[in-house]
Formats: sequence, C-alpha cells, structure tokens
Amino acid sequence: MPNPLLATADLPDYAAIRPEHAEPAVRAQLAANRQRLAELLGRPEPSFATLVEPFEEMQHRLNTVFAPVSHLNAVVNSEELRSAYNACLPLLAEYQTEVGQNAALAAAFATIQAREGARLTAAQRQVLDLALREFRLAGVRLPDAPKARFKALMQDLSRLHSKFEEHVLDATQAWSREVGDESLLAGLPPHVVERAARTAGERGRSGWFFTLDQPTYVAVVTHADSAELRRDFYEAWVTRASDQGPLAGRYDNGAVIAEILRLRHEAALILGFRDFAELSLATKMASTVEEVMGFLEELARHYVPAARRELAELEAFAGRSLAAWDVPYYAEKLRQQRHAISEQELRPWFPLPRVLEGLFEIAGRLYGITIRERPGVAVWHADVRYYEIRARSGELVGGFYGDFCAREHKRGGAWMGEVTVRKCLASGTVLPVANLVCNFAPPAAGQPALLTHSDVVTLFHEFGHTLHHLLTRIDYPSIAGINGVPWDAVELPSQLMEHWAWRPEVLPLVSAHVASGAPLPAELLGRLLATRTFHAGLAAARQLEYALFDFRLHARPVPADAAALAEVIAQARAAVGVVRPPPFNRFAHSFTHVFAGAYAAGYYSYKWAEVLAADAFAAFAEAGVFDAPTAARFLGELLSQGGSRDLMEAFIAFRGRRPEVRPLLVQDGIAA
Ligand SMILES: [Zn+2]
Repeated sequence: MPNPLLATADLPDYAAIRPEHAEPAVRAQLAANRQRLAELLGRPEPSFATLVEPFEEMQHRLNTVFAPVSHLNAVVNSEELRSAYNACLPLLAEYQTEVGQNAALAAAFATIQAREGARLTAAQRQVLDLALREFRLAGVRLPDAPKARFKALMQDLSRLHSKFEEHVLDATQAWSREVGDESLLAGLPPHVVERAARTAGERGRSGWFFTLDQPTYVAVVTHADSAELRRDFYEAWVTRASDQGPLAGRYDNGAVIAEILRLRHEAALILGFRDFAELSLATKMASTVEEVMGFLEELARHYVPAARRELAELEAFAGRSLAAWDVPYYAEKLRQQRHAISEQELRPWFPLPRVLEGLFEIAGRLYGITIRERPGVAVWHADVRYYEIRARSGELVGGFYGDFCAREHKRGGAWMGEVTVRKCLASGTVLPVANLVCNFAPPAAGQPALLTHSDVVTLFHEFGHTLHHLLTRIDYPSIAGINGVPWDAVELPSQLMEHWAWRPEVLPLVSAHVASGAPLPAELLGRLLATRTFHAGLAAARQLEYALFDFRLHARPVPADAAALAEVIAQARAAVGVVRPPPFNRFAHSFTHVFAGAYAAGYYSYKWAEVLAADAFAAFAEAGVFDAPTAARFLGELLSQGGSRDLMEAFIAFRGRRPEVRPLLVQDGIAA
C-alpha cells in the first residue's frame, strides 16, 4: 500500500495515516527535494521561473507531507506517534540548515534579483527579498572565518536555549507543597483541591499534595484565603531556576542568561547589526530600536498612572498595603464585588453550534463568504468537523477542520495550524486548508458543548488566524496567508476578530440559551461588557515592564553579569513598575519567551499587535461593525495580502494613516 502522507489528494487521508508512515515519507520527500535542488542548481542561467518557482514548489510539498504528522502528534498523541514525530525533527532541522547555508542557492537568488528584479511583479520581488534576507540572517554569504564562528554561535545558542528551558522545567517540577491542615485550603476552587487530594493519594500520602504547574499556581495566588499559602507559592514561582527561594542555586539560570545575551550580541555584530535588538527588528514591522522604545514609553505614559490608581483603589479596598502575592487575591475579590458575574453563569447562553453559526454569519457579512460543513471528509476523531469556504461567486476558496473540545491525548490550548498553504504556480493550484483547534469543556451527554465568554473570545481569535490563512490571494506559498508576515503583526487579524465578540450588537448573534433559545439578556450582556476594562492598567503595566526589560536587555550596552542584569530590571521597574516585587523576585530566570523562545527582543509584539488590532477595529466601529466597504478595504489591502507587502504600508493603505494607540486606550477605559 502506498504511503498516504505522500499522496497528492487535496486533503490528508486521516483514516489511513499511521505513525510508521511518518519517517519514511519525510525521508523520501527530503531525498526528492535534495535531488531536485541539485538538478535546479545545475542548470545554466537560473531565472525566477526555472529556479525560484520550483524551489517554492518543493518547500511547499515538504510542508504538506509533514503537516499531518505534527498535527496528529498534537491532537491524538500516542507513544508511537510521538517517537515517529520526534524521529522526523532532526531530519527536517538538518535539511533547513542545509538550505539556509546553501551558498550556491543564495548566489543564484541574488543573480535573479539583479537581472530580473525590474520585470518581476511586486509579489515575486517580495519572495526574492524575503529569501535573500533569510540567507543573510543565516550568515551564508559571510567570509569563511566569521561564517564558521557564526555557525558555532548558533549551535551554542540552541544548546543554551534548551538548557534554560530544562532548568525552568526541572525547577518547576522539583517543588511541591504538602498540606495537612484543611483550613489552609479555604477559598480554593474545588477542582484544584480535589486534584491535590488525588495527587496525594497517588503518592501514598494523606492530605493534599500541590505541584507548581501554572494552573495550580494561578489558582492559589488568586483564590487562597491563606496569605501564607499564597506567599509560599509566589516565592517558589518567581524564584524558579535562580539563586533565590526554596531551591536556591539548583538549576540556576543566572550564568545561562549572561551567556545567551553575550552570544546573541556577538552574532548580531557578525551580521553587521549594532545589537541583537536591531537584528530582531530586521524581520519585524517595527523598523528601529528607537521606534519600539518610543512606542513602549508612549503606552507607559498612559497606562502607568492608570495602574497606580487601580492599585491605590485596591489597597483602599483591602484596607492595607499589599504584597505582590496579595494583589491577584484582592483583585479577584474586588472584581467579584463590582461585577458579580461568573464565567459559569454565562455558559448556557453560548452553546457551541449557535456560536459557530453566528461566527460564520459575521464572516459572511464582512467578507462575503459562505462557510458550510462538508460531511464525509476523513478526520482523526469523530468529533471533528470539516468546513468549506466559498466566495460570493461560489468559487471554492479553502477549508478548515474544527476540533473544538478537550479530550485525552490532545494538547491543551488553542491554535490555528496550516494543513496546506495556498499555491498557484505553473505546476498547478492548491487551495489553503487550516486546522482550528480549541480545548473547550466537553459537552454533557445529549447536550452541545457550552462555552464561557472567554471561550467565545478564544474561538474568535483562532478564527481570525484561520481567515488570514484561508482568504489569502497570494500565489507563492512562502508569502501566502500567515507566511512572511512579521512576528509583531501576525496577531493583528486574530486580535482584530476578538473585538466582534465584545460588541452589544454582535453578541445576540452568537448567543441562544440552550434550553429556551433566548439571546443573552440585555442586563447580563451589560454586566459582561463592563468586565472588559477591569484592571486594564495593571495588566498593561505588567506587560510593558516585561517588554521594556526584554528590549533594553538586547540593546547596547548588553549586560555582562548578574549585577548588570539586575540593573536593567531595576530600570524597567523604575520606568513602568507599579506592584513592587520583593527583593527575592527573579522572574527573568524563568522567562522562557525571551531566553528559550521566539520572543527575544520581541516581547513588545503583544502590545504592538494589540494596538494595530484596536486601531483597525476602530475603523469598523466608526463606519459600523459590519460595514462592507471597510471590510473590503481590510481584506484587499491587508488580510488577503499575506507577507507579500510591507505591513506598515498595508496598514496605512487600509487606515489612511499610521497606527495610533488611542483606540486601544479607549477600549481599555484609559482614555475617553
Ligand atoms: Zn494568536
């Protein structure tokens, strides 16, 4: 039987794919790609049509072969699948490095740009520009000695990033708290207490056994009436992998951080940047270090005074000054007193089928598309549905799988993943297909799944990513949909979509009581909308502190040791800090976004995209949230354009001006 991963049908045959198909398929496709690349590079006179297009084609093919493997590993994980998936990763990484370091390929792309650049379309030029930028950032065109050094730096950094992450993981797992006295548990949600009792039982202990996973930590500092328990968890959490706290010195990331910063700086210098912050911005929508600093400072000017007012008000409510581990607890008490609305209370109004129906109607009104379930498509689980999207003309645009509820062996969280990326080349057309994955609470027998409002917002968010992927009109996969879109702008379409979930004229479309069919009552709707701005200042100030710290850290002068690192933290706190953390706080030592993830000198991206989304939505709010011309402009200038054009230029074409922070301030209740 042929390997189903190598089939060329429109959709993967999920009924036939087995773990043992993964590695052979990936190996076969890699061999085919290598052979094809050698053959292409062997031809004289490379051109866009004879080299770049076939290269796009073969990369697209490889991604299409592997996509179902990584997807199944996430949604129906098993021992066999995980090891099959893990066996593919080094093969793919090796191939990516090989391509990125291919000097002949880079030189051929540069020749094509010089010779044909003027005759190519804007999208074709962008394909070349982005590929050449990738080559440059991989150091492929450096002289031998710095090239070798750069390669060594990349290997060292990848090792250090893993080490950082391992330290955090080990430190998190090494700490636990046993409780024998039930009175200490007052205030905690029952499911957290039950889990702790179960864990104690599994370990042959009596009482309650708490681990330091994030949901437990958040539940304790938010709900535990015992200040002692909150303080213990807080201390354990903010001292993970550091020289402080209960496990001081074990798994200490202090030296790892200093080394990472030093090597990142050196790598940036080799590539000709002044520091790592500038290198990070080479692939982002924000263009200069000064622009990002100015952006963060402008937000801080508005949010920090609001956050200080919120803290003062909270301390007045508590009747005393609050330690860092008291703030979430009293904030929750104040929120309950002021808004008296619980997530659970809203569930009956948001049955999943109704929410989807409303969401599809919103997308139809905005972008003139229709979304219909197509039955009979092979899926990985009986609960999964497949939907097709058609344009007003009836033309098929793409499709997506919806896998909405939590189950065993499915990774937590919510995300949009690519199945196939749109491709329209000489060799043929492939339509885009996405996975839309969430983890809503599964339904009770005979009932639909009932969502909380924050579930609804999550669904809208991932649906925004899905539309970005599916409504693209770009023919080249490397710049279609979310591909080639700068990191600090990729959350624009998703965060934009969230705004509809907060509108009084939209919520009746997505709500219908599971028993009576009635839409959300006006009184409940009003209370829900009022919760949106609660402690917006404190939340933003915390994000700004992280963003400022991350960005300053990677800009010259780069801190060389623990004392210099502490100094950068102190500066960020002095500038935007509101809640004063205790001296033992070492949050940087477990900041994996920055020291092990993709957010290095990029944590500001969260706020950046939020500003873009709020400003983009303001255009809709001004014209009417379903205004067709506004939606057509957004679709035409930005949403359908993928990474084919400069994002700032696209935003200006849509909005008529550069982005402004004011709409976000209004949304957060900071400005009138
Ligand atoms: Zn997102």
